[in-house]
Amino acid sequence: MRRGTILALLMLSACIPKVDQQTADRPSKVPIVEADAATRQCHADLTRDAVEFKILPDRRFGGGCSALGAVQLIDFGTPVTNLGAMTCPLARAFTRWTKQAVQPAARQWLGSRIVKVESFGTYSCRPVNGQSGNKLSEHGRSNAVDIAAFVTEDGRRITVLDGWRSDDEEVRSFLRAIHQAGCSRFAIGLGPEANSLHADHFHFDMGNGPYCR
Ligand SMILES: [Zn+2]
Repeated sequence: MRRGTILALLMLSACIPKVDQQTADRPSKVPIVEADAATRQCHADLTRDAVEFKILPDRRFGGGCSALGAVQLIDFGTPVTNLGAMTCPLARAFTRWTKQAVQPAARQWLGSRIVKVESFGTYSCRPVNGQSGNKLSEHGRSNAVDIAAFVTEDGRRITVLDGWRSDDEEVRSFLRAIHQAGCSRFAIGLGPEANSLHADHFHFDMGNGPYCR
């Protein structure tokens, strides 16, 4: 091989994102899997919804954890903190929930729009409720998102923790409205009524539902 070619190859390999050991140890002939029809449709839906996103390469981690058919949301009109890999159906439900439920509810109950949603993240390789022995959480499949707070254009910060049982009836109504809307858009919706582990956030996932609490 000519020196230039080798250099080019070296540079190319340096560009390949670092993957976990399990994947790295496999032979290099892992086929590139085309996105299936449902995932392609989901990408098309995001594009039609004017969502800017990046398609992430499929990744399998240890312990059954994965990011398959996942995307990274870049911009869909409302900034959201801490979003990592999300399966495309989760991203589609989440962006629609934010645009079609959270923003209208904020206008209705808070008289302002939401300029920032604060999340506790998406991907996390852990059992349900973080308790060993439980089955793998949908977070371990990049199929869940935890939402903790909302910042309004007029400068308020509404947290699930303080707002759910707030003295302010409009804050309570806002949070209940979007929790309920989440339940109808995601497979599973959990909030402060579910258990004490969800006192400070809404958990939404696209696993086996429906379940709403
Ligand atoms: Zn969660």
